[in-house]
Amino acid sequence: MEVRTRFAPSPTGYLHIGGVRTALFNWLFARHNKGKFILRIEDTDTGRSTEEAVNVILDGMKWLDLEWDEGPFFQSKRLDIYKEHVEKLLSNGMAYRCYCSAEELKRRKEEAFKKGLKPKYDGKCRDRHDKPEGVSCVVRFKSPTSGTTVIRDMIRGNVYFDNSELDDLIIMRSDGMPTYNLCVVVDDFTMGITHVIRGDDHLNNTPRQVLLYNAFGNKPPQFAHVSMILGDDKARLSKRHGATSVTAYRDMGYLPEALINYLARLGWSHGDQEIFSMKELVEHFSLENVGKSSAVFNPEKLIWLNTHYIKEKDNEELAGLLLPFIEKMGYKAEGDKRLPLIVGTLKERVKTLEEMASSAEFYFKDDFEYDGKAERKFLKAENRELLISIKNGLSFLEPFDHNGVEGVFVKVMEETEKKLGKIAQPVRVALTGGTVSPGIFETIEAMGKEKTLMRLERAIEKIKESVAVQDV
Ligand code: GLU
Repeated sequence: MEVRTRFAPSPTGYLHIGGVRTALFNWLFARHNKGKFILRIEDTDTGRSTEEAVNVILDGMKWLDLEWDEGPFFQSKRLDIYKEHVEKLLSNGMAYRCYCSAEELKRRKEEAFKKGLKPKYDGKCRDRHDKPEGVSCVVRFKSPTSGTTVIRDMIRGNVYFDNSELDDLIIMRSDGMPTYNLCVVVDDFTMGITHVIRGDDHLNNTPRQVLLYNAFGNKPPQFAHVSMILGDDKARLSKRHGATSVTAYRDMGYLPEALINYLARLGWSHGDQEIFSMKELVEHFSLENVGKSSAVFNPEKLIWLNTHYIKEKDNEELAGLLLPFIEKMGYKAEGDKRLPLIVGTLKERVKTLEEMASSAEFYFKDDFEYDGKAERKFLKAENRELLISIKNGLSFLEPFDHNGVEGVFVKVMEETEKKLGKIAQPVRVALTGGTVSPGIFETIEAMGKEKTLMRLERAIEKIKESVAVQDV
């Protein structure tokens, strides 16, 4: 039997990282079992669903490389199928039309409550067969009133529900819109879903869904309910714990590999291994190793993984990823051949692409101010000749690379009998405006000949000006 899983988000907001973890587990389970992964957009709540939210979901999934084999299907385009199925239940007596008005229901529930009874639907229309003209109705599922429904959950084991606790669920509203539980069940069996892996916030829906499967004469899929993600205070992860949307992590400069690796380990484990490539995740993923207890979101660990993946990434690729962050700061960097070298100087030092972009700013910003203290200490008259020698040496250098740059410095060190630090610091201030930067040779190589010479010249002029001021 082919394994078929699905991710079924409702497009009512942003793409929550908890939802993405659910998507990832479904994706991994399908890939591990050489099955299919289906994307289904649950947009029957027309008041809350938006096209923008659909695009956010699709973009997020693409960014994370969680490609789907079928879909995206939209529930809003399948209304006829649901209606047909509601009709089926009506005709085989598993569902009925309920004409009770909202006020009536409210009054009867309150009465039941006063009598100490459960405030659930009292079954008034269960056996009604007339169709009163002009009175709107909903369709309810005729839930069994006794017995037990057992969910054989692949993560939690058997979970038992008393049928008498379950209400006669509304499966179609008075405006003709089918409801969530009905749509999910019809979709899951018409799409041949074999495994439903989802958040345990849906566990209470599952017995109702299993009963609906039975009513349609279909075998329910295997269920696996994954525990919620918690914040460090053990409350359910929400915005007050920090960013929870996938888009926010992308915009902060996290790599998809880091987020995937992090979310995979959030609730699932494989020995004590922490770093997994996508290939390894597919190879090792199993539901047996998904824990029953809730996992706590740990932003530091995500940063640690991001740092790791930034370091690992090939410079060319990293340059492409950094580009939008540089452009966001207002610099034109498209087609700038220096980018791979620039990222090479920074990738060992930063936690996110956003941080990398701000650390890279000095490569792009020509009109920077010198740091006052650095300027006083290093851009002084006695260093002017030194900067001129470096500039002259570099101006003849071809190719303009790390070794060549080093050669120019060695020559000036010999000529001046100065140590590297004494030469590197004034050059660093001239190039970056401050005293902290990656290694001087790699910085110069990445800066490129044109900008290096221009900035050395600018510093040389600056010293000349200040000497002239002092001479007056
Ligand atoms: N649309 C539901 C949600 O976003 C998921 C339904 C399901 O997985 O069965 O919570």
